[in-house]
Amino acid sequence: MVPYVPPSWAHALPAPSHRILLAAVPTPIHAWKLSGLPQGISLVIKRDDLTGSALTGNKVRKLEFILADALRRGATTLITCGGSQSNHARATAVAARELGMDTHMVLRSNVPELELTGNLFLDTLTRARVHLVGGRAPYVSAILPKMQEIEAKLKEEGKVPYVVPVGGSDPLIGIWGYLDAWEEMIKQGVLDKVDDIVLACGSGGTLAGLVIANYLTESKVRIHGFPVSDNAQYFFSHIDSTLQALRLPVKASEIVSFVDGYKGEGYAISKPEHLAFIAEVAGTTGIFLDPVYTGKACFGLVQELNSPPATRQLQLKGTRVMFLHTGGLIGLMDGTVQQTLVSPVVVVPTVVPAAVQT
Ligand SMILES: *Cc1c(COP(=O)(O)O)cnc(C)c1O
Repeated sequence: MVPYVPPSWAHALPAPSHRILLAAVPTPIHAWKLSGLPQGISLVIKRDDLTGSALTGNKVRKLEFILADALRRGATTLITCGGSQSNHARATAVAARELGMDTHMVLRSNVPELELTGNLFLDTLTRARVHLVGGRAPYVSAILPKMQEIEAKLKEEGKVPYVVPVGGSDPLIGIWGYLDAWEEMIKQGVLDKVDDIVLACGSGGTLAGLVIANYLTESKVRIHGFPVSDNAQYFFSHIDSTLQALRLPVKASEIVSFVDGYKGEGYAISKPEHLAFIAEVAGTTGIFLDPVYTGKACFGLVQELNSPPATRQLQLKGTRVMFLHTGGLIGLMDGTVQQTLVSPVVVVPTVVPAAVQT
């Protein structure tokens, strides 16, 4: 744990006093030769999928601040929640183990017996305690009470529980993960080299941090969120309430744009074209997008760039675009994408040349 000194442009915000260095940063930014990009668009990718190995993705940056708060409060056990393949819950469980804490996670699932694949496999290896609720369990009436029940039980046992908010997104602590990432991007020259930043939004904390930092630094960059759950209206109000909590005199609609229509059937539900796109991108560029977040956002980006201006929602400020890769590789390996690959392995018979036969 180290004292945290916020960037000077963030002096008006209430900053956390400490952070724990968990992420491998700065993450690289490099050109990305994605096929299907129209002429004139240059695309780079910021690799926040490389913030670590098991402890990886965008959630690590938020956990640096949240878990510092937990440790300072003497927490012994973390409680969090998410979908059955939650990247956030997995990152929390891995970080907790590194720091000597236990994790209880309340996960939504449609099936009572889950296969231990992807994130759930790592959750199990870290010995996180998994509590399942129904796949459509509402947060307020089902998940929150379940977390409170676990919290009460842990207190009875003499433990010190700490609830980590959904997706690590809260307006006072988790938000610093991507406020601070903005300072990293400034040092990488993003403000001079990039006109537009595109990313997926799930719980909205990553986007909120970037958008508020963008506003506070009065940069010329425009940020575009692709909702993969809920919709633009929901995220405008999420960011508005964050702005209010931080007492910033601006409206979300003035500082961020959203592109709706690419979440498909719903959160964590993939269409065949999403999976085909992920396979195409991996097979041509070696970048692994995930089915829940980055795959849909990037699919949407390519679709938008190729739509006629009259129907295009994405209004770029310029031609130099940066896609923020927020992670998700472990979720990609949950078994569902494998099933869609028609012929995953091409067996090439090996012919050993006679000259080298022994
Ligand atoms: C959680 C997550 C997101 C969304 O980030 P939010 O801050 O919740 O909006 C995007 N990509 C990946 C891979 C994630 O795990």
